[in-house]
Amino acid sequence: MRSVYLPGNKEVVVRDVDPPRPGHAEVRIAVKASCICRSDMSLYYGNAVLGGVVPGRFICGHEPAGFVEELGQGVTTLRVGDRVAVHLALGCGTCPACRRGIFHLCPTWKCIGFTADGGNADYMVVPERNCLRIPDSLSFVAAAISTDAFGTLYSACKKLELSGASTLGIWGMGPMGSSGILAAKALGARVVAFDPIAERREFALKLGADLALDPTAPGVMDAIKEFSHGDGLSAAIDCSGNPTAQNMALDAVRPFGKVAFVGESKETTIRPSEQLIRKQISLIGSWYFGIAEYAEIAELLVSKKIDLTQLATHTFSLDEAPEAFALFDQRKTEKAVFVM
Ligand SMILES: [Zn+2]
Ligand SMILES: [Zn+2]
Repeated sequence: MRSVYLPGNKEVVVRDVDPPRPGHAEVRIAVKASCICRSDMSLYYGNAVLGGVVPGRFICGHEPAGFVEELGQGVTTLRVGDRVAVHLALGCGTCPACRRGIFHLCPTWKCIGFTADGGNADYMVVPERNCLRIPDSLSFVAAAISTDAFGTLYSACKKLELSGASTLGIWGMGPMGSSGILAAKALGARVVAFDPIAERREFALKLGADLALDPTAPGVMDAIKEFSHGDGLSAAIDCSGNPTAQNMALDAVRPFGKVAFVGESKETTIRPSEQLIRKQISLIGSWYFGIAEYAEIAELLVSKKIDLTQLATHTFSLDEAPEAFALFDQRKTEKAVFVM
C-alpha cells in the first residue's frame, strides 16, 4: 500500500509498505480521505509539536475517514463496510481519562500521524474504540474534516455555551476558524470573523459570518461595539495563537463574557486585572473533542445540513503528497485533503 512519511527538512516520502493487520479489538480501515493540518507542518520542518516524535518513523495524517475493511479478533461493535472517521488519540483504555472517552488526556496516549501510524495511507489499523461512526449523508472528505477541524471548534463552542443570544468573535480564519463559523451559526450565534487577509474575510462571509473585520484596521474595536449593540461580545475564540489576537479577544468581550483559546501558543502576556478580574471573564482552553461528543457533532452536521466539503479547497492523491505539503506550507491551499 502507499504511505506518506515526513522525516523533516521539508522532505516528503511516499513509500510502498505492507498493509497492517488488525490485532485484538482492532480494525483495519480502508482510508478514503485524510486531511493535512497546520500541526503537520511541525513534522514537515522537523520540529514536532508533540514530545516523543521520531522524525519519519510513522505514517503521517491524523484526520482520516474511511470504511472498516477487516476485523481483528474480539471486535463486537463494528462490521466490515461500516463508514467511520478516526479519533486521533490512542489511549490505554482503562485510566480515568480513557473511561471518559477523552483519550487525548490519557497519560500514556499516542497520537496517530505523530507517535503512531496515521491516515495518509491506503490502509490503517486502529482500536475499535477509536472509530467514530459517520452518517450516510456525510462524504468521507466531510467526515475527515469533521474530526480535528470541525470537532475541535464544536467542542469549544459548546464549552462557551453558545445560543441564539450569543455574539461570538473568532480570530484566525484558517480551516479551524472557518469551521468555527459553521458550528457557531448552527448553534444560533451571531458571528464576527477576524483575519488580516481579505480573501479569508470574504470566505468567512460566504460561510455565514455576519461580519468580517481586519483586526489590524483602525476603528476595529468600535466596529465590534456596534456589532454587539455597545455591549462587547458575549464570547470569543482565538484560533490564531497570536498574542495580539489573544489580547484583542479578551478586550472585545463584555463583562462575564467567555473566551476560549484554541490556537496553539507557547507564551503570551495578558493584563489580568483589567482583562479578566474586573470584567469577571471566564478564559478557557479547548483541545480536540471527546469520543462522547462525536454523536452530537454528527447529528448537528446532518440536522443543520452543514457542508464541510466547502472547506476543502484542494484535494490530492497520495502520490501527489510532496506537492500537497509544499502548497499547504506556502499557504496556497486552505484545508487540503488526500482522497484515495
Ligand atoms: Zn489536525
Ligand atoms: Zn488511558
